[in-house]
Amino acid sequence: MKYISTRAIDFHSTFSFSNILLQGLAPDGGLFMPQIYPKITLAQLIHFRKLNYAQLAAEILSLFCDDIPRHIIDTITEKTYNAKRFAYTRYTENAQEITPLSYLGSQQNAPLYLLALSNGPTLAFKDIAMQLLGYLFEYILDKQKQKLNIVGATSGDTGSAAAYAMLDKKNMQLFMLSPQNRMSAFQQAQMYSLNYPHIYNLAIEGVFDDCQDCIKTIFQKTAFKEKHHLGAVNSINWGRLVAQIVYYFKGYLSAISDADWQQCIQNNRIENLPKVSFTVPSGNFGNACAGHIARMMGLPIDKIIVATNENDVLDEFFKTGIYRPRSAEKTWLTSSPSMDISKASNLERFLFDLFQRDSQAFKDALAAYKKTGVIDCKGYFDKGEFNTFGIVSGSSCHQARIETIRYAKQNYNRILDPHTANGLNVAKLYLKPEQAMIILETAQACKFPNIIREAIGEMPSRPKALENIEDLPQSVYYLPADAKLIEQFIAKHCHD
Ligand SMILES: *Cc1c(COP(=O)(O)O)cnc(C)c1O
Repeated sequence: MKYISTRAIDFHSTFSFSNILLQGLAPDGGLFMPQIYPKITLAQLIHFRKLNYAQLAAEILSLFCDDIPRHIIDTITEKTYNAKRFAYTRYTENAQEITPLSYLGSQQNAPLYLLALSNGPTLAFKDIAMQLLGYLFEYILDKQKQKLNIVGATSGDTGSAAAYAMLDKKNMQLFMLSPQNRMSAFQQAQMYSLNYPHIYNLAIEGVFDDCQDCIKTIFQKTAFKEKHHLGAVNSINWGRLVAQIVYYFKGYLSAISDADWQQCIQNNRIENLPKVSFTVPSGNFGNACAGHIARMMGLPIDKIIVATNENDVLDEFFKTGIYRPRSAEKTWLTSSPSMDISKASNLERFLFDLFQRDSQAFKDALAAYKKTGVIDCKGYFDKGEFNTFGIVSGSSCHQARIETIRYAKQNYNRILDPHTANGLNVAKLYLKPEQAMIILETAQACKFPNIIREAIGEMPSRPKALENIEDLPQSVYYLPADAKLIEQFIAKHCHD
């Protein structure tokens, strides 16, 4: 499997999986994409259904990666996906499942399911990809006799997921910028209470966008970047996407009953398998993009429903074909903060497919975007091209989240976090009789206690091991939002 950049003029320059794993953007500023999507067969799906999560992850990963030996992939996925590491299950769930699927109930005759992606060390779905990335990075760095200084910015969930993934890894240091006093006390404690010599928490005077801007400035300095071996783990990283494809397969295979499965495979045609839909609480379009790829690979997915909050650029795009990112001032602070994003960094991957990988048309659209700030795909939209990809959307406001959290507690006895609540609220718009609807649970409610208390008048419980993390000593450096000073800090503390 070779990779190309979405912005390449011709597709002569290709890259291997190991080549692109440590990189963020492609050298031309585009995103890496597989040259072709591997197509799965019925025989493969039948095989996949017998596997545990680690084995399934190894199968999927090896479809996208042909330059890491299979036995290494097997070892890495086993070390990553086990019940010890994804231990924070709710009492009805089995940790062996890694991403357990729970039946919620039936609405409009459609069975509703929740796929829990938040049982990892930081209680958000970012762990699933980040934990794998930690081991993959370690393997590649060791092989290339390299060190890596990972520099990133977080509004809460990415930073702690990255830190927990790097805890026990060699040849890596982490410099994570976060906005001072903008995260929940729990999120802050989760990150800052890690006291390890290779993990640097930099609390920046400013908001998330200020942190992000500093990172961009630093990464533009190619000489500095190369001298200090800077690397990134942000949501455009291809390795993260591959890891996220796995749970769409897992969710699908768990949602089909044994009886249905037996009956369908007797017909011996993948087309006869029942379809399911997924609803994905979205921000940067990373999670949903993994679903798009799973669907392109032939997993029987009917619709992928992109759920946004009040920051609804993606909803606008999938309803009109016009992509109009917004400025930081027009990005609202909401009660589902991990989705407060107005520029969906992974959307370029979908656009590339929407343009049928026509590099000239895509380049023209990007050039127009530079001038107008808009990517106009209305032509494709009007011709019904969007339908062929099965992506639809909806958005939710604070009140809808509150009502959905209350509803899920009363009817399904499940306390949803506000991001997942956006998902359930939007999923209701797209139910079809007899078709399973799987909502991705992207975080646990205890990370966001205030809105839960507002909705149901009680505090969500937390895993025992995390009960008093706010009382632990915190290790953090305070810096202004000044790229120069941050650069100096990195230069002083990193291992080259
Ligand atoms: C990151 C995050 C999202 C958004 O996911 P994207 O891949 O950026 O679309 C949604 N919910 C939670 C809890 C998150 O941490």
